[in-house]
Amino acid sequence: MKAFFKELSIRTRNKLEVVNITHYVEDAVRESGIRDGICLVHAPHATAAIVANEYESGLVEDILTKIREEYPEDGRWKHNLIDYNAAAHLASAFIGASRIFPVRNGSLVRGTWQHILLIELDGPRTRRVVIEVLGE
Ligand code: ZN
Repeated sequence: MKAFFKELSIRTRNKLEVVNITHYVEDAVRESGIRDGICLVHAPHATAAIVANEYESGLVEDILTKIREEYPEDGRWKHNLIDYNAAAHLASAFIGASRIFPVRNGSLVRGTWQHILLIELDGPRTRRVVIEVLGE
């Protein structure tokens, strides 16, 4: 089995933001030379998330609206007493900081409208995204 690792550095511009990183992940899979296996996409952060969904401007706004509704910044969160970003931690914890995709015939297996999205929850910051491709 072969293992390929790549780290991306993504500069975000807003407090809450959705960044389409699909092409970076597809480039990494191509670069890996791995034909069949799996691809892990992971954000090593406590206030960011990775999801797979459509990158359409209305839906991107809907995702951010839903996050604001579910995890209000001014909620009575205990973590806000020491570091005013509990909402970002909660959203990251429940949405998840990583996703795994199958790799077949040298390509990522995903739906036509299923893009790989980094969700910034406490920006703007420079975020690391790590990609690990495992297979043959
Ligand atoms: Zn914090």
